[in-house]
Amino acid sequence: MKKYYKDLVNLPGVSGQEKYVRNYMRTHLEKLSDEVVEDNLGSIFGGINLDYDGPTVMIAGHMDEVGAIVKEVNKNGSIKLLPIGGISPTVAISQHMNVVIEDGSFVPGVIGAKPPHLLRDEKTQQVSSFDDFFLDIGADNYNHAKELGIRIGQQVVFENNYKESKDGKKIFSKAWDDRFGSAMALDILESVDRSDLKCRLYAGANVQEEVGLRGATTSSFKLQPDLFIAVDCSPCSDTFDQSEVGGTLGAGFMIRFYDPRALLHQGMKKFIEETSEKNNIKFQYYNSMGGTDAAAVQLSREGVLVCTIGMPSRYIHSTTSIIHKDDYEAVKAQILAMLKEIDYNKIAEIKRNA
Ligand SMILES: [Zn+2]
Repeated sequence: MKKYYKDLVNLPGVSGQEKYVRNYMRTHLEKLSDEVVEDNLGSIFGGINLDYDGPTVMIAGHMDEVGAIVKEVNKNGSIKLLPIGGISPTVAISQHMNVVIEDGSFVPGVIGAKPPHLLRDEKTQQVSSFDDFFLDIGADNYNHAKELGIRIGQQVVFENNYKESKDGKKIFSKAWDDRFGSAMALDILESVDRSDLKCRLYAGANVQEEVGLRGATTSSFKLQPDLFIAVDCSPCSDTFDQSEVGGTLGAGFMIRFYDPRALLHQGMKKFIEETSEKNNIKFQYYNSMGGTDAAAVQLSREGVLVCTIGMPSRYIHSTTSIIHKDDYEAVKAQILAMLKEIDYNKIAEIKRNA
């Protein structure tokens, strides 16, 4: 896997504070594309083959990750947090988190957990909201926290950085959702054979997906794609009760045929299936209870053909998640295979097959 993946998961970027991720994306998009386009919310894309007389294809990950922001600094120097994105407070206890201060450096902290000695008769520590705990940065009091650079609204991210499993096939990290898709956009621009393309291509990443698909709403208005591919992580339930619907790690990319906000276009479904079968790329079907940027893009202007190529990931929207390198290969191969096929005729055929 290219270095983009490791570099990107390790950067901080909760929704609305994607600056460090965007700077990284820009540096590489400038090298890999002919034109870098940024919209007013901060989503960023690189375009290639833009003079070609063909349909416009847009491929996007999202730069933001789930985490928190500083809500309040307590008198004793501890910090109250406001969660950003869909994250359960139960996963946060005892986790190391970093506050990103003005100069970009980290102030480390830990979510305070009561030791058993103090719990006495309470069997478990009851946590139902982020207000039930605090981030301890080792500050002696309010003024000390201020001296350390803490300010209201600063982003707070989990510390679990890139780490490979013993067999080298899986990778643990925070923020796979969705630095994976952001890195894939760079990977595709670097790997695609331009002489094969019969479309104009924009690849990049949106802001603010986790708080309601906001970045994709504006970036798709700007780029006006004919076809949009969201590259995003989708949860696996293979380590839990198998009756739950969800993906299996290592079983190939996911065809998201249903989610509450986007019904997979039947012509797109056929196109994805035929392309993967023709190229022997492993896939699995997946129905989701959540949404991706595809839901926002499909409603842009007069409507857009969309799909999500899902990356199976265990434990997303928690403090760390796991992906499989074989699935990475499948996602990449599938997108490259689709790009080879897309021209005006293919778009017309997809629409006819609806
Ligand atoms: Zn996502």
